Amino acid sequence: MPSGLENSTTLEVPATLIRKESGDRDRGVCIVCRGPLVQHVDSFYDTRFGIDGKYEVWRCSRCQLEQMFPVPAPAQLKSLYESHYNFGGEKGTLYTNLREWFFSSFLYRMWIRLDGDLSFHGRKGTGRLIDIGCNEGRGLQIYARNGFQVEGCELSETAAAEARDRGFIVHTHPVGEFTLSAPYDVAVLSNVLEHVPDPLQMLLDIRRILSPKGQLWISCPNSQSWLRNMFGRYWINWHVPFHISQFSPQTVTALMEQAGFTTIEIRQVTPALWVAMSIIAKVFAKKGQPTRQLRNPVLVVALLFLIRFAAFPVLWLQNMRGRGDGLLITASKA
Ligand SMILES: [Zn+2]
Repeated sequence: MPSGLENSTTLEVPATLIRKESGDRDRGVCIVCRGPLVQHVDSFYDTRFGIDGKYEVWRCSRCQLEQMFPVPAPAQLKSLYESHYNFGGEKGTLYTNLREWFFSSFLYRMWIRLDGDLSFHGRKGTGRLIDIGCNEGRGLQIYARNGFQVEGCELSETAAAEARDRGFIVHTHPVGEFTLSAPYDVAVLSNVLEHVPDPLQMLLDIRRILSPKGQLWISCPNSQSWLRNMFGRYWINWHVPFHISQFSPQTVTALMEQAGFTTIEIRQVTPALWVAMSIIAKVFAKKGQPTRQLRNPVLVVALLFLIRFAAFPVLWLQNMRGRGDGLLITASKA
């Protein structure tokens, strides 16, 4: 059992450490270490889909992890994903057609070298790779082309069916329920860990399915991002109610060590797309209304090029300062 977990289930939260809001309801406990959530970061509304409601982000006093509180109940999360986040929700539009073309083009391979490879699409290699949260299987095609023997894991049946149509093996049950025929050499969690209600358990489950020298590749937003300061509650990576955790290099490293991973390396990136999305949210987002401009290909592409080519020294400098918008993390099982 990794250190720090032994007492987690029996820990009582000292009442004096629980902050009250205007004298009313108690705050919760951390989804990782069960420590008290004491520092209120801020309250947010959804700037992408126009989902109703105000969501709060708090920080754990013990492990410092920022997290949404309260976390929606599993049934509510499932319904939110099915209504707003499902691959089946958008298909065959100009935006999705252009996106499909772009991801299979030479231009994309050049772009990720320049902009940051959030999905590890530029890595070539061999061995068994599992893409956890593989969606409709676009990444699987790229990993397979790069030399890996690939499988996917996707809880959305609609998206999994699409990936299977492309010829891939896709598991639709959680990693914790896998019965292994053979361990995996690489597990990819591209923009997934921040969505997971129990990130430590997710990492423990992944470690179990990896081969002795297996690798884990993670990407997620950086809670110390310069864009978070610049855009405040319009920062696109708050992404309530879907982003449950907000990781910093320190909190994600601690979590991975707790799950037993070693050789943890972190690089910082600021993808132009994320900058563009924060700008669009800042200009157009209105509470309770979907921000349709996030799906406007002309606007998005114009901003992408403007940001990448006019603002590249700023993006580079912020990455160097440890204030990039995204984290690329690689680690080994042993
Ligand atoms: Zn904690």
